[in-house]
This record gives sequence, C-alpha cells and structure tokens, in this order.
Amino acid sequence: MKPFDYQRADRLEHVTDLTSADDTTVIAGGTNLLDLMKLQVETPSTLCDVNRLPMNDIEATDDGGLRIGALVTNSACAADARIRSDYPLLARAILAGATQQLRNKATTGGNLCQRTRCYYFYNIDQPCNKREPGSGCGALNGYNKLHAVLGASETCIATYPGDMAVAMSALDARVETLRADGSNRSIPVREFHRLPGDEPWRDNVLEAGEVITGVTLPPPAGGRQVYRKVRERSSYAFALVSVAALVTMDGCRIAGASLAFGGLAHKPWHDPRIDELLSDAEPSDELFDKAADLLLENARGYGDNDFKIPLARRTLIATLREATGENA
Ligand code: SF4
Repeated sequence: MKPFDYQRADRLEHVTDLTSADDTTVIAGGTNLLDLMKLQVETPSTLCDVNRLPMNDIEATDDGGLRIGALVTNSACAADARIRSDYPLLARAILAGATQQLRNKATTGGNLCQRTRCYYFYNIDQPCNKREPGSGCGALNGYNKLHAVLGASETCIATYPGDMAVAMSALDARVETLRADGSNRSIPVREFHRLPGDEPWRDNVLEAGEVITGVTLPPPAGGRQVYRKVRERSSYAFALVSVAALVTMDGCRIAGASLAFGGLAHKPWHDPRIDELLSDAEPSDELFDKAADLLLENARGYGDNDFKIPLARRTLIATLREATGENA
C-alpha cells in the first residue's frame, strides 16, 4: 500500500471540498477500497473518512417512502423492520451479498460505489482500460467467465458486482447527493451507474466533489418481491446472474411488474419493455419466454461467459414463475 494522508470529515462541505481535488477518495466501510489500495489498483494521496457524519439513519419520507442514510450499514438496512416488511426485495438482495462481517462494515453509499471484480482490473501487471485508460482490456480475449453479456463495449466488458443496487433498481429508488457547488441532486438508481462506452474508468455519474448522502425508496408498492441470485457457491460469491422482481397481481393477471438484473452488465440492468410486456398480462411460460427474448435480444458472449445467456433466460423464467405463483 502506498502512503496516504488521512482526514476525518466533520461536515459534508469538508468532503465536497476535499474530493473536488483529483486525488482524494472517500472512505466509509472500506470493504472494497482497502483491497484496492493494498493491491495498488487505487492509490489516493488522501483518504477522507466520512464515518462520523450524521448519515446513518433510516427515516420516513413525507410521501410514505423511506430515506436510507449513506452510512447505514448493509446489516442495519437488511435488519430494519420497515425494510423487511415493506421492501423485502431489498433485504433479501443485501443478505445475498458478501458475508455478515462485511455487511456489518459495508455502507449504503459505499455499496453503490463498489468496483468491478474483473480479475484483470485487480492485477496491476495486466492491461485494463478501467484501471489504466488506453492500456487495453485483458478480459476481452482472456478469461471472462464473470463478464458482461449486455451493454459492453470494445474497451470494457466488466460487470457491476453488487446485489443491493439491483433491488434498488427494481424498486425505482433514487440516489441523493450533495454537489461541490452546494446543490443537491436526486438521481434515479437506474441512471446512477454507467455503461462502459469509451470511458470505462467512469463507473457512475458522480461528478468531482459530489458525495452520496442517502437513498430514497418510493412508498411501498406491495406485491410479490423476489430476489433470485445464481452463483458458483451458496455464499460469499458474486452473481453470475441475478433477478430482482416486484410483481403485483390482480387476481390471476399481472397488474404491474418492475424487474432488474445483476451480473449481466456494467450496471444493474433495467429494460422498461419487459415491465410493459408483463403488465396487465396473464402469466404463462410463453409470456415469460417473450420477456427473456426482450432481455437477451442484443446479448453477446465472449467465450467463457457464453453460458450466462441461457442462464439468464432460465433464471428470469424461474423468478417470474415464483413471483406470479405460476408454479409456486
Ligand atoms: Fe479492465 Fe474492463 Fe477489461 Fe476488466 S473488462 S480488464 S475492468 S477494461
């Protein structure tokens, strides 16, 4: 690990001032960042510790939703009675990630900003456009089992690794921020993470000096909420494919649906055409197959990850069967 300066922020403006400088990185739980620093993938000259800022509450919002402070740990969020009863999808997704020890440290804001687990990104001897722009992409013609089949570019085929944000995407949550100029921004989670394009080093839309202050959840939608994660072992593994589904039924028909997908792209994947197709429709395997056709119409494998395409189809269909009670 390279030497760095340490500053403890005592107010949010202190954070925006510090992070407006290129070489300062925010640290909260540090569950991803410290690994990156030990491997010299990230070498900030200054760490800005935000842990003492008052952002660790979950509060009701005026419209009947919830606001989760950026420093609320994953454990606290998943254990909150309101989250468990009204947003079980979110609690299940969080509990499907990492381990209890990591969830005790990982924060809501940090989880959103965690970086890809692409092997080449973590090995500074390998080419990686995300770590070192212009150096190439080791995964493109290398070992790419964990990599993207949707929305990738010729410069990067990495995936976003998290679970929490996939559920937040299905729930249509928003990321609240404070910008360097003092203004606030409310960003739909669906627009927070980026596709790699020709700037794969930019994981999300945060600007220099902009800091996450919380996440707001809309009022509870009720319905059936399912998070299905397929991985190589039953715990402590990133998703090969995951599906977050919020489905409301009206008798035997689907009244509304909101789905998001993990493990497939550089961001939690949301395709509004799937939600539209499923809404006001009678559940059937034929319908679910059409939803998978939409999801995968532009899917492309890169060799080792070809299996993700049929796996995503099977996982989506199984999730919809469970959420609609088709074969519960
Ligand atoms: Fe780097 Fe992205 Fe290629 Fe992985 S897939 S080596 S993160 S550029």
